Amino acid sequence: MTELTKLAYMSDYYGSDPTLVLAGGGNTSYKTADVLYVKASGFPLSGIRENGFAALDRHGLQDLLLRGYPEDVENIDTQFIEDVMATRLPGEEKRPSVEALLHHGFDFPYVLHLHPTVVNSLTSAVNGEEEAHRLFGNDVVWVKLVHPGYGLARYCWDLQQEHKEKFGKYPRFLLLQNHGIFIPGNSPEEIGATLDEVISKIKACYKAEWVSDLAPIDTDAIGAVKEKLEKVYDAVLYCGEKSMVAMCESREAAAGVLRPYNPDQITYCRSWPLFCESADEIEALLKEYDAKIGGLPKVIIVRGVGLFTAGKDRGEADRAMQLFLDAGKISFYAENFGGYHQLDDDFIDFIDNWEVENYRRGVANKNL
Ligand SMILES: [Zn+2]
Repeated sequence: MTELTKLAYMSDYYGSDPTLVLAGGGNTSYKTADVLYVKASGFPLSGIRENGFAALDRHGLQDLLLRGYPEDVENIDTQFIEDVMATRLPGEEKRPSVEALLHHGFDFPYVLHLHPTVVNSLTSAVNGEEEAHRLFGNDVVWVKLVHPGYGLARYCWDLQQEHKEKFGKYPRFLLLQNHGIFIPGNSPEEIGATLDEVISKIKACYKAEWVSDLAPIDTDAIGAVKEKLEKVYDAVLYCGEKSMVAMCESREAAAGVLRPYNPDQITYCRSWPLFCESADEIEALLKEYDAKIGGLPKVIIVRGVGLFTAGKDRGEADRAMQLFLDAGKISFYAENFGGYHQLDDDFIDFIDNWEVENYRRGVANKNL
Protein backbone atom coordinates (compact mmCIF):
# COMPACT_ATOMS: atom_id res chain seq x y z
CA MET A 1 0.00 0.00 0.00
CA THR A 2 1.56 3.30 -1.02
CA GLU A 3 0.10 5.11 2.00
CA LEU A 4 2.11 2.87 4.29
CA THR A 5 5.23 3.67 2.29
CA LYS A 6 4.49 7.38 2.65
CA LEU A 7 3.97 6.86 6.37
CA ALA A 8 7.34 5.11 6.64
CA TYR A 9 9.07 7.98 4.77
CA MET A 10 7.41 10.62 6.94
CA SER A 11 8.32 8.70 10.10
CA ASP A 12 11.95 8.20 9.10
CA TYR A 13 12.35 11.82 7.97
CA TYR A 14 11.09 13.43 11.19
CA GLY A 15 12.30 10.64 13.46
CA SER A 16 15.90 11.07 12.25
CA ASP A 17 16.07 14.72 13.31
CA PRO A 18 17.44 14.91 16.90
CA THR A 19 15.92 18.37 17.42
CA LEU A 20 12.48 16.77 16.96
CA VAL A 21 12.76 13.52 18.85
CA LEU A 22 15.45 11.61 20.75
CA ALA A 23 16.23 8.03 21.74
CA GLY A 24 13.52 6.25 19.81
CA GLY A 25 10.65 8.41 21.12
CA GLY A 26 7.67 9.72 19.14
CA ASN A 27 5.23 7.77 17.01
CA THR A 28 3.18 7.97 13.83
CA SER A 29 0.18 6.36 12.19
CA TYR A 30 -1.94 5.99 9.08
CA LYS A 31 -5.57 4.92 9.12
CA THR A 32 -8.37 3.83 6.86
CA ALA A 33 -12.00 3.62 8.01
CA ASP A 34 -11.32 0.12 9.34
CA VAL A 35 -7.61 -0.22 10.18
CA LEU A 36 -5.07 1.80 12.17
CA TYR A 37 -1.40 1.25 11.30
CA VAL A 38 0.55 2.60 14.25
CA LYS A 39 4.26 2.51 15.06
CA ALA A 40 5.10 -0.67 16.93
CA SER A 41 7.15 -0.68 20.17
CA GLY A 42 10.80 -1.50 19.57
CA PHE A 43 10.85 0.09 16.09
CA PRO A 44 12.38 3.59 16.31
CA LEU A 45 10.94 6.10 13.82
CA SER A 46 14.39 6.61 12.37
CA GLY A 47 14.92 3.95 9.73
CA ILE A 48 11.43 2.47 10.12
CA ARG A 49 9.97 0.53 7.16
CA GLU A 50 6.45 -0.55 6.24
CA ASN A 51 6.80 -3.59 8.51
CA GLY A 52 7.41 -1.43 11.62
CA PHE A 53 3.72 -0.66 12.12
CA ALA A 54 1.13 -2.72 13.98
CA ALA A 55 -2.30 -3.13 12.36
CA LEU A 56 -5.29 -2.62 14.68
CA ASP A 57 -9.05 -2.91 14.19
CA ARG A 58 -10.53 0.60 14.47
CA HIS A 59 -14.00 -0.66 15.36
CA GLY A 60 -12.52 -2.39 18.40
CA LEU A 61 -10.56 0.77 19.25
CA GLN A 62 -13.69 2.93 18.98
CA ASP A 63 -15.58 0.57 21.33
CA LEU A 64 -12.71 0.81 23.80
CA LEU A 65 -12.51 4.60 23.51
CA LEU A 66 -16.21 5.09 24.26
CA ARG A 67 -16.57 2.24 26.75
CA GLY A 68 -13.82 3.37 29.13
CA TYR A 69 -13.34 1.93 32.58
CA PRO A 70 -15.32 2.10 35.81
CA GLU A 71 -13.82 4.43 38.42
CA ASP A 72 -12.85 1.61 40.77
CA VAL A 73 -11.16 -0.70 38.24
CA GLU A 74 -7.89 -2.12 39.51
CA ASN A 75 -4.74 -2.13 37.38
CA ILE A 76 -6.33 0.08 34.76
CA ASP A 77 -3.00 0.55 32.96
CA THR A 78 -2.35 -3.16 32.55
CA GLN A 79 -5.97 -3.74 31.57
CA PHE A 80 -5.80 -0.92 29.02
CA ILE A 81 -2.69 -2.34 27.36
CA GLU A 82 -4.34 -5.76 27.14
CA ASP A 83 -7.47 -4.21 25.64
CA VAL A 84 -5.46 -2.35 22.98
CA MET A 85 -3.51 -5.54 22.22
CA ALA A 86 -6.83 -7.35 21.77
CA THR A 87 -7.70 -5.07 18.83
CA ARG A 88 -4.75 -6.35 16.77
CA LEU A 89 -5.77 -7.77 13.42
CA PRO A 90 -5.48 -11.57 13.12
CA GLY A 91 -1.84 -12.55 12.66
CA GLU A 92 -0.47 -9.23 13.96
CA GLU A 93 2.39 -10.06 16.34
CA LYS A 94 3.88 -6.64 17.04
CA ARG A 95 3.13 -4.61 20.16
CA PRO A 96 1.45 -1.31 19.20
CA SER A 97 2.64 2.02 20.59
CA VAL A 98 1.01 2.84 23.92
CA GLU A 99 -0.40 5.95 22.25
CA ALA A 100 -2.34 3.85 19.67
CA LEU A 101 -5.79 4.77 20.98
CA LEU A 102 -4.88 8.46 20.92
CA HIS A 103 -3.88 8.10 17.24
CA HIS A 104 -7.17 6.36 16.45
CA GLY A 105 -9.09 9.34 17.88
CA PHE A 106 -7.92 11.78 15.17
CA ASP A 107 -10.33 12.15 12.27
CA PHE A 108 -7.47 12.39 9.71
CA PRO A 109 -5.54 9.68 7.85
CA TYR A 110 -1.99 10.60 8.94
CA VAL A 111 -0.77 11.51 12.44
CA LEU A 112 2.72 12.62 13.51
CA HIS A 113 3.70 12.74 17.18
CA LEU A 114 7.07 14.21 18.23
CA HIS A 115 8.82 15.71 21.24
CA PRO A 116 10.64 18.69 19.64
CA THR A 117 12.85 20.71 21.97
CA VAL A 118 11.37 23.96 20.62
CA VAL A 119 7.79 22.80 21.17
CA ASN A 120 8.61 21.58 24.66
CA SER A 121 10.10 24.95 25.61
CA LEU A 122 6.48 26.13 25.32
CA THR A 123 4.69 23.05 26.68
CA SER A 124 7.01 22.96 29.72
CA ALA A 125 6.59 26.65 30.57
CA VAL A 126 4.58 28.30 33.32
CA ASN A 127 2.59 30.41 30.81
CA GLY A 128 2.59 27.72 28.12
CA GLU A 129 -1.17 27.47 27.73
CA GLU A 130 -1.92 31.18 27.40
CA GLU A 131 1.11 31.75 25.15
CA ALA A 132 0.00 28.83 22.93
CA HIS A 133 -3.42 30.44 22.47
CA ARG A 134 -1.88 33.83 21.82
CA LEU A 135 0.42 32.36 19.13
CA PHE A 136 -1.94 29.86 17.50
CA GLY A 137 -5.52 30.92 18.28
CA ASN A 138 -8.08 28.24 17.41
CA ASP A 139 -5.55 26.12 15.54
CA VAL A 140 -4.34 24.62 18.80
CA VAL A 141 -5.82 22.55 21.57
CA TRP A 142 -3.81 22.58 24.80
CA VAL A 143 -3.80 19.25 26.64
CA LYS A 144 -3.14 19.56 30.35
CA LEU A 145 -0.82 17.05 31.98
CA VAL A 146 -2.59 13.77 32.69
CA HIS A 147 -1.19 10.29 33.21
CA PRO A 148 -0.49 8.53 29.91
CA GLY A 149 -2.73 5.61 28.96
CA TYR A 150 -6.50 5.46 28.55
CA GLY A 151 -7.11 8.74 30.39
CA LEU A 152 -4.91 10.72 28.03
CA ALA A 153 -6.38 9.14 24.87
CA ARG A 154 -9.95 9.84 25.98
CA TYR A 155 -9.11 13.36 27.14
CA CYS A 156 -7.54 14.23 23.77
CA TRP A 157 -10.55 12.83 21.93
CA ASP A 158 -13.04 14.73 24.12
CA LEU A 159 -11.11 17.98 23.64
CA GLN A 160 -11.17 17.57 19.85
CA GLN A 161 -14.92 16.94 19.81
CA GLU A 162 -15.53 20.00 22.00
CA HIS A 163 -13.33 22.10 19.72
CA LYS A 164 -15.26 20.96 16.66
CA GLU A 165 -18.59 21.79 18.26
CA LYS A 166 -17.38 25.23 19.25
CA PHE A 167 -15.47 26.25 16.11
CA GLY A 168 -16.94 24.00 13.41
CA LYS A 169 -13.60 22.30 12.69
CA TYR A 170 -11.02 20.09 14.36
CA PRO A 171 -7.86 21.73 15.72
CA ARG A 172 -4.79 21.65 13.44
CA PHE A 173 -2.64 20.24 16.23
CA LEU A 174 -2.53 19.34 19.93
CA LEU A 175 0.11 20.60 22.34
CA LEU A 176 0.55 18.24 25.27
CA GLN A 177 1.86 19.84 28.43
CA ASN A 178 5.36 18.59 29.36
CA HIS A 179 5.26 16.13 26.48
CA GLY A 180 5.13 17.26 22.84
CA ILE A 181 2.92 17.72 19.79
CA PHE A 182 0.38 15.65 17.85
CA ILE A 183 -0.28 16.81 14.27
CA PRO A 184 -3.01 15.12 12.22
CA GLY A 185 -3.39 15.74 8.49
CA ASN A 186 -4.59 14.54 5.12
CA SER A 187 -1.03 14.08 3.88
CA PRO A 188 2.55 14.08 5.18
CA GLU A 189 3.07 17.37 3.28
CA GLU A 190 0.24 19.08 5.14
CA ILE A 191 1.62 17.81 8.46
CA GLY A 192 5.13 19.01 7.58
CA ALA A 193 3.84 22.52 6.81
CA THR A 194 2.04 22.67 10.16
CA LEU A 195 5.13 21.51 12.05
CA ASP A 196 7.35 24.13 10.32
CA GLU A 197 4.88 26.87 11.14
CA VAL A 198 4.61 25.86 14.82
CA ILE A 199 8.36 25.69 15.27
CA SER A 200 9.10 28.98 13.56
CA LYS A 201 6.40 30.86 15.50
CA ILE A 202 7.72 29.59 18.84
CA LYS A 203 11.34 30.33 17.87
CA ALA A 204 10.41 33.89 16.90
CA CYS A 205 9.64 34.51 20.61
CA TYR A 206 13.17 33.60 21.75
CA LYS A 207 15.18 36.52 23.10
CA ALA A 208 18.51 34.70 23.59
CA GLU A 209 20.15 31.69 21.96
CA TRP A 210 21.58 28.60 23.67
CA VAL A 211 25.35 28.55 23.08
CA SER A 212 26.67 25.13 22.16
CA ASP A 213 30.25 26.30 21.50
CA LEU A 214 32.90 24.66 23.62
CA ALA A 215 33.57 26.31 26.99
CA PRO A 216 37.19 26.69 28.21
CA ILE A 217 38.44 23.22 29.18
CA ASP A 218 39.90 22.71 32.65
CA THR A 219 41.55 19.33 32.06
CA ASP A 220 42.60 18.88 35.70
CA ALA A 221 39.13 19.51 37.11
CA ILE A 222 37.39 17.37 34.49
CA GLY A 223 40.01 14.63 34.83
CA ALA A 224 39.57 14.49 38.61
CA VAL A 225 35.82 13.95 38.26
CA LYS A 226 36.20 11.37 35.49
CA GLU A 227 38.70 9.39 37.50
CA LYS A 228 36.26 9.06 40.40
CA LEU A 229 33.33 8.18 38.15
CA GLU A 230 35.26 5.66 36.08
CA LYS A 231 35.86 3.58 39.20
CA VAL A 232 32.10 3.00 39.34
CA TYR A 233 30.87 3.26 35.72
CA ASP A 234 32.12 1.66 32.50
CA ALA A 235 31.32 4.75 30.42
CA VAL A 236 31.54 8.43 31.42
CA LEU A 237 30.88 11.43 29.15
CA TYR A 238 31.51 15.13 29.72
CA CYS A 239 29.55 17.99 28.13
CA GLY A 240 31.53 21.12 27.30
CA GLU A 241 28.72 23.24 25.80
CA LYS A 242 28.97 26.80 27.12
CA SER A 243 25.33 27.22 28.12
CA MET A 244 25.29 23.84 29.91
CA VAL A 245 28.54 24.55 31.73
CA ALA A 246 27.04 27.88 32.85
CA MET A 247 24.09 25.98 34.36
CA CYS A 248 26.54 23.96 36.45
CA GLU A 249 28.00 27.04 38.15
CA SER A 250 25.77 26.68 41.21
CA ARG A 251 22.80 24.72 42.55
CA GLU A 252 20.61 27.78 41.83
CA ALA A 253 21.79 28.00 38.22
CA ALA A 254 21.11 24.26 37.85
CA ALA A 255 17.61 24.40 39.36
CA GLY A 256 16.04 24.17 35.88
CA VAL A 257 17.56 20.71 35.33
CA LEU A 258 17.39 19.16 38.80
CA ARG A 259 13.84 17.83 38.21
CA PRO A 260 12.61 16.17 35.00
CA TYR A 261 10.31 17.67 32.34
CA ASN A 262 9.01 14.56 30.63
CA PRO A 263 8.87 10.75 30.62
CA ASP A 264 11.71 10.36 28.06
CA GLN A 265 14.00 12.16 30.43
CA ILE A 266 12.94 9.93 33.32
CA THR A 267 13.55 6.86 31.17
CA TYR A 268 17.03 7.75 29.95
CA CYS A 269 18.44 10.11 32.63
CA ARG A 270 16.63 8.71 35.68
CA SER A 271 14.42 11.16 37.54
CA TRP A 272 17.08 12.62 39.80
CA PRO A 273 20.47 13.91 38.73
CA LEU A 274 23.21 14.12 41.35
CA PHE A 275 24.55 17.57 42.20
CA CYS A 276 28.01 17.65 43.85
CA GLU A 277 29.65 20.74 45.30
CA SER A 278 33.07 19.32 44.40
CA ALA A 279 34.82 16.21 43.08
CA ASP A 280 35.73 15.25 46.63
CA GLU A 281 32.09 14.62 47.47
CA ILE A 282 31.39 12.22 44.63
CA GLU A 283 32.05 8.88 46.34
CA ALA A 284 30.03 9.70 49.44
CA LEU A 285 27.14 11.16 47.42
CA LEU A 286 26.96 8.13 45.12
CA LYS A 287 26.58 5.91 48.21
CA GLU A 288 23.91 8.20 49.60
CA TYR A 289 22.07 8.13 46.23
CA ASP A 290 22.07 4.32 46.25
CA ALA A 291 20.77 4.23 49.81
CA LYS A 292 18.03 6.83 49.24
CA ILE A 293 16.91 6.25 45.66
CA GLY A 294 18.46 2.91 44.73
CA GLY A 295 21.18 2.28 42.16
CA LEU A 296 23.35 4.93 40.57
CA PRO A 297 22.49 8.26 38.93
CA LYS A 298 23.01 8.60 35.19
CA VAL A 299 23.60 12.35 35.41
CA ILE A 300 26.21 13.93 37.66
CA ILE A 301 26.71 17.69 37.89
CA VAL A 302 29.83 18.99 39.60
CA ARG A 303 29.66 22.64 40.59
CA GLY A 304 31.98 24.81 38.53
CA VAL A 305 33.16 21.84 36.43
CA GLY A 306 30.16 20.80 34.40
CA LEU A 307 27.85 18.00 33.37
CA PHE A 308 28.76 14.32 33.24
CA THR A 309 26.61 11.39 32.19
CA ALA A 310 27.49 7.81 32.96
CA GLY A 311 26.30 4.29 32.36
CA LYS A 312 27.24 0.71 31.82
CA ASP A 313 28.16 1.42 28.21
CA ARG A 314 28.70 4.38 25.92
CA GLY A 315 25.21 4.14 24.41
CA GLU A 316 23.56 4.49 27.81
CA ALA A 317 25.74 7.48 28.77
CA ASP A 318 25.14 9.05 25.36
CA ARG A 319 21.35 8.75 25.53
CA ALA A 320 21.40 10.31 29.01
CA MET A 321 23.54 13.14 27.62
CA GLN A 322 21.18 13.82 24.69
CA LEU A 323 18.07 13.86 26.87
CA PHE A 324 19.71 15.95 29.57
CA LEU A 325 20.93 18.55 27.09
CA ASP A 326 17.35 18.64 25.82
CA ALA A 327 16.20 19.40 29.39
CA GLY A 328 18.82 22.16 29.63
CA LYS A 329 17.52 23.78 26.45
CA ILE A 330 13.88 23.42 27.53
CA SER A 331 14.60 25.20 30.82
CA PHE A 332 16.64 27.87 29.01
CA TYR A 333 14.02 28.68 26.36
CA ALA A 334 11.03 28.35 28.73
CA GLU A 335 12.27 31.67 30.16
CA ASN A 336 10.60 33.26 27.12
CA PHE A 337 7.22 31.95 28.30
CA GLY A 338 7.21 32.78 32.02
CA GLY A 339 9.84 30.26 33.16
CA TYR A 340 10.08 26.47 33.30
CA HIS A 341 7.47 24.06 34.68
CA GLN A 342 8.79 20.68 35.81
CA LEU A 343 6.95 17.44 36.68
CA ASP A 344 5.65 17.00 40.22
CA ASP A 345 6.48 14.08 42.52
CA ASP A 346 3.21 12.27 41.85
CA PHE A 347 3.73 12.22 38.08
CA ILE A 348 7.39 11.21 38.44
CA ASP A 349 6.44 8.28 40.70
CA PHE A 350 3.79 7.19 38.23
CA ILE A 351 6.24 7.08 35.30
CA ASP A 352 8.96 5.44 37.41
CA ASN A 353 6.59 2.58 38.20
CA TRP A 354 4.77 2.37 34.89
CA GLU A 355 4.98 -1.03 33.25
CA VAL A 356 4.97 0.44 29.74
CA GLU A 357 7.94 2.67 30.42
CA ASN A 358 9.84 -0.21 31.95
CA TYR A 359 9.15 -2.24 28.83
CA ARG A 360 10.41 0.60 26.63
CA ARG A 361 13.52 0.96 28.78
CA GLY A 362 14.21 -2.75 28.27
CA VAL A 363 13.74 -2.50 24.50
CA ALA A 364 15.84 0.65 24.32
CA ASN A 365 18.71 -0.93 26.21
CA LYS A 366 18.67 -3.94 23.93
CA ASN A 367 17.98 -2.45 20.53
CA LEU A 368 19.41 1.05 20.31
ZN1 LIG B 1 5.09 11.00 23.29
